[in-house]
Formats: sequence, C-alpha cells, structure tokens
Amino acid sequence: MLSSNFVMPITLALSLLLCACDGKPSVRSESLASAEGLHAHAPSTALPGSHEDWCGEHQVPESQCTRCNASLVPAFKATGDWCAEHNLPESQCLACNPELKITRPAKQP
Ligand SMILES: [Zn+2]
Ligand SMILES: [Zn+2]
Repeated sequence: MLSSNFVMPITLALSLLLCACDGKPSVRSESLASAEGLHAHAPSTALPGSHEDWCGEHQVPESQCTRCNASLVPAFKATGDWCAEHNLPESQCLACNPELKITRPAKQP
C-alpha cells in the first residue's frame, strides 16, 4: 500500500531528468560558414559566363582562371592573349593593364 505512493513521484522525477538530457546537440559545425567566403571558387557545374562562374580568389571567371586551371594556359597562348612576364593572360594581367576591370556577371533572377 505505502510503497505504491512512493514509487510514482520517483519515476516521474527520473523521466524528467532523462528528458532534460535529450536537448539539442552541443557540437556545432563551423566549417560551413567559411565555404561561402570571399575567396570562394565556382562549382564545377557553373555555366561559363554566368554569375556562378567566378573565381573569388583571383577575381576572374573561374572558367578562364589559369591560376586555378593550368590546362587553360595553352588556349590563351594560342590566341596571343598571354603575358609571359606575369604568367597570366594579358586580358587578366592587372600589372600590365592597371585600367583593366574584370567584372563579375550579374546574378540571374
Ligand atoms: Zn582562380
Ligand atoms: Zn603582365
């Protein structure tokens, strides 16, 4: 008789304690925040000439960034668009062409 009156509050308290532990996970992932930074590179799926096709690190279209993709170099050399001194396409060489402005294409809605 007596025992049943005692057991109820104890089990209630225990289950409340267990619930308190069942909160949000305390481990937070911070690595995602840096992925969308200033020095971001375009995903391989980006369409050349689109807003997404942009190398944030070198401020040129990613599809034309010889510093990220050295295999693009022969194509620039073939068209004579090459600065041997700075190892860059002449059309991207700000050292030789300080007036040069390479602007990122606007984002399509
Ligand atoms: Zn780049
Ligand atoms: Zn140059």
